Amino acid sequence: MTSLPSAALAALEFYDNHYCYAEPILLKPDQKLTLGCARYPRHCRFCGKDEPAVTFKGKAHALPTAFGNPGLLSNYECDACNHFFGEGIENHLGNWTKPMRTLSRIKGRSGVPTIKSPGPEKVWRVEHMGPGFRLQEYVKEEYEPFFELDAKAKRLRFELPRDTYTPVAALKGLVKIDLTLIPEAETQNFRETYDWIRDTDHSRKFVDALPVIHTFIPGPMPNDVIALTLMRRRSGIDTVPYAFFTLGFGNHVLQVFLPSASQDKCIDGKLLSFPPFPMPAGNDPARYGLPVVRCEELTASHSVKGDSVPVKFGFHSIASLLDPPWEGS
Ligand SMILES: [Zn+2]
Repeated sequence: MTSLPSAALAALEFYDNHYCYAEPILLKPDQKLTLGCARYPRHCRFCGKDEPAVTFKGKAHALPTAFGNPGLLSNYECDACNHFFGEGIENHLGNWTKPMRTLSRIKGRSGVPTIKSPGPEKVWRVEHMGPGFRLQEYVKEEYEPFFELDAKAKRLRFELPRDTYTPVAALKGLVKIDLTLIPEAETQNFRETYDWIRDTDHSRKFVDALPVIHTFIPGPMPNDVIALTLMRRRSGIDTVPYAFFTLGFGNHVLQVFLPSASQDKCIDGKLLSFPPFPMPAGNDPARYGLPVVRCEELTASHSVKGDSVPVKFGFHSIASLLDPPWEGS
């Protein structure tokens, strides 16, 4: 956990000294923006092919629609690459982020994702409803309690399972967002990175370490704004990675390193230490707590089953629920 504001101020100074970054991009649901030129022949920056060898008929979303913003498109992702990413790394990213998106009430193509107990039996479910959540548990002798209730402390704890995912594929999904957003002039610094995200052999090592710094901002946060910040190393600096980006949605901010084979030679083999990119404290930190920072290691190339995310809710009171169980399920 970080303490504010002194740590945040020190972090701001660190990033100001080492990076230049553009104004944050704030995406709202009604915004429509298409990146890149639509003039024939279009060029795909992911596979390097041009029209007519590849087509550009479909909508290429700069961010997977699961993150709740269908309006930011690009003109430089061909239909084949769009389909390839959608069926591959974006699925893994979707599975890894699903509990975060559910609890942050992020509306994807089919609304906020509901999470149910795995398997055919109806044991429990967590779904967004109205301004909050409906948490349901089917009580049977053989079922372990899913929700751990502390009525005295007014706390509810449970663990939301993640669907099966491959960590490095989810990481490639994050890196792909940044590779979509960077200006065309920067793409030459990332040719190997484009090849890496298209490689279906997830065991091929690209860099030694690629941590994702994950900041959780507790309390109510907007669920319809996506905040993106792109950062590039200042010229004359050679002690930090060349580029980062941050992706903020709901209660979460992910800070992702964008590796460049050519520009990151200067940090090869060096042990680096970073403060997390400073984030706003959110609503009423005295009530909900300060942002919590953790380092996510998404470099494993094997499939992960049975992973889960711990969840802690506070509540005001307990009331009897008269609705029939599993209504609408
Ligand atoms: Zn392509």
